[in-house]
Amino acid sequence: MMEAKQLTSKYGSLVFNNKVMRERLPKDVYKAVHKTIVNGTHLELDVANSVAAVMKEWAIENGATHFTHWFQPMTGLTAEKHDSFISPEPDGGVIMEFSGKELVKGEPDASSFPSGGLRATFEARGYTAWDPSSPAFIKDGSLYIPTAFCSYGGEALDKKTPLLRSMEALSKEAVKLMKIPGLDDVTRVNTTIGSEQEYFLIDKEDYMKRKDLLFTGRTLIGAPASKGQEMEDHYFGVIKPKVAAFMHDLDEELWMLGIPAKTKHNEVAPSQHEMAPVFETANVAVDHNQLTMEVMKKVADKHGLSCLLHEKPFEGINGSGKHNNWSICTDTGINLLDPGSHPDENIPFLVSLIAVIAAVDDYAPQLRLSVASAGNDHRLGANEAPPAVISIFVGDELSKVLDSIEQGIAFKSASKEKMMMGAQVLPHITKDNTDRNRTSPFAFTGNKFEFRMPGSSVSVANANIVLNTAVAEEFSKMSSELDGLTGDDLHDRLTTLLKDTLISHKRVLFDGNGYTDEWIEEAEKRGLPNLKSLPDAMPEWISESSVALFTKHEIFTREELDSRYEILLENYSKSINIESLTMQEMIIKDLSAGLIAYEKDLTEEIIKKEKALPGAKAALERSILASLDEASVEICERLERLKKDTVMAESMTDVQAQADFYEKTVLARMDELRVYADRAEALIPEKYLGYPTYGQLLFSLR
Ligand code: ADP
Ligand code: MG
Repeated sequence: MMEAKQLTSKYGSLVFNNKVMRERLPKDVYKAVHKTIVNGTHLELDVANSVAAVMKEWAIENGATHFTHWFQPMTGLTAEKHDSFISPEPDGGVIMEFSGKELVKGEPDASSFPSGGLRATFEARGYTAWDPSSPAFIKDGSLYIPTAFCSYGGEALDKKTPLLRSMEALSKEAVKLMKIPGLDDVTRVNTTIGSEQEYFLIDKEDYMKRKDLLFTGRTLIGAPASKGQEMEDHYFGVIKPKVAAFMHDLDEELWMLGIPAKTKHNEVAPSQHEMAPVFETANVAVDHNQLTMEVMKKVADKHGLSCLLHEKPFEGINGSGKHNNWSICTDTGINLLDPGSHPDENIPFLVSLIAVIAAVDDYAPQLRLSVASAGNDHRLGANEAPPAVISIFVGDELSKVLDSIEQGIAFKSASKEKMMMGAQVLPHITKDNTDRNRTSPFAFTGNKFEFRMPGSSVSVANANIVLNTAVAEEFSKMSSELDGLTGDDLHDRLTTLLKDTLISHKRVLFDGNGYTDEWIEEAEKRGLPNLKSLPDAMPEWISESSVALFTKHEIFTREELDSRYEILLENYSKSINIESLTMQEMIIKDLSAGLIAYEKDLTEEIIKKEKALPGAKAALERSILASLDEASVEICERLERLKKDTVMAESMTDVQAQADFYEKTVLARMDELRVYADRAEALIPEKYLGYPTYGQLLFSLR
């Protein structure tokens, strides 16, 4: 166990970070790499060679024998292929080699990664390219090099490439726009992310006994335990020793990898927990979140536990999400979403705030899509997570500032340096404003926005790609409105621009309880989209508005959009198909085995009892037997229907129609079947069942 006093020396000890580079690289090489990291400039091969040599030495000193390009293909997982550093010598010995070329470019045989038809038109090969802005690290004896993954023609086949593009687009538009309120010295703007990760921990042996958890990550059958989360005694509760030991180990592993794990606590649902890191630059934060999920699984395993990252592992119990805290920060150190003590005078803040409001309203369908997955569809709108309708919470204090802008109280001062909004109320926005609305999908929380819709198991890259691009577009629109104006003209135009933008987008602002039906009705009146599932939302991905947005900012080409459309729908259908087959198998084998054995024992018991005791009724036994029989008739019928519809779904060829069918029909059949399976399970004693029940899964950890 790491001692507290070792922490500062151990933190990031497995990372080839800026400190290591500064210490070890020749000065000019360090400068060149630093420039590449900060400005994204091209890296010459001789520089890469020099970095590779130093990186190899450092990696070997730290126990690495292999290196791997590490990337994030469209499977939603990470991918890696390891090569050793060894190069055999004619004399039978080996030397350890690693060249600049091997560092910057890889050619994994990528034909089995999803490409949505992209590679067919070019070449089966995919390429990985070093992302120097995310530091390399050592894990399990290998040097991991974060990379982007593209096709031969340069099309993105991963999540990192478009994320980097979206960060670039937002930076470019922000730098341009921020010149207007006088931030002339800004040359780059970074998006920052802190993603809070929720998860469940259950006993590993229990996990291994359930095919549904093993194959799909969620329980597909299971009667509720007598106790659920209604007592709310788990949230922030005392952490059990087994869980505490896991969390301790997790922190240490993450710290060694330079992942700034900061907060840990129990969540609302039994056996549910959360880890929040300190925020970092977007692409590093996304890489770190991917790593965090992986390390969580690994550490859990060591502790005899299983870490569930699925968005809805248990019916009737809160699901898990990944709150995406997001802000924009200039290279001069200004957080553009920090209102400061005089938000009414803070033009960069007001412009940014109103641009975010416009972006979320204009691109709500795309944002909804960015968090859509088969798993997350069970969570959004389930009265425990944000609804599928996107709205923004700004809080009382900021609402007052926005009201005064809307009422058109103009800028007071005419000088460019001292533009002011003549707000009558000058609230001081405290970071810890107490009226935080936990039900809002997109909440302003003091100096950042918290996007609460992302699911717990997926990369947060998608959400941030859409968010960055949508805000870049609103910035761009504002810049073109203000272009060439100066003095009073500029001030007048800016005043009306902010006012008009606010008026046309204020329908997306909502400070009330987002979990109620009234809000869903109200949202519909306001014309806000309510895209309930991935298949419902998917056409928006290739709508005119999407294509215009993403191609203009060079995030995705039309072909890349089409390929992602196909991949997402296909993945969705595959997931539901696996769920259906797993559910059928569990019911036919595991549940039925218990049901039949128990029915047999009950029948024998009834006969025995009535024989032994003339006139005996065996009332309880008969009643249970009758209920079991009733349930089994229904199970049988509904199982047939599910089977039939799943076969039908499998045979469909149109990706959209197929996904729609899985969602509207197959999932519905599974829900119907589950009702009776759970009814039967509730009657069967645990010892007859081949798998652990909800009560065991959720309450057995000590
Ligand atoms: P909570 O929401 O649980 O009350 P905090 O508000 O302290 O907690 O922070 C939640 C997350 O937001 C943390 O991961 C934190 O690092 C992150 N965060 C704080 N400031 C920023 C910022 N400027 N940009 C992005 N994330 C931020
Ligand atoms: Mg939070």
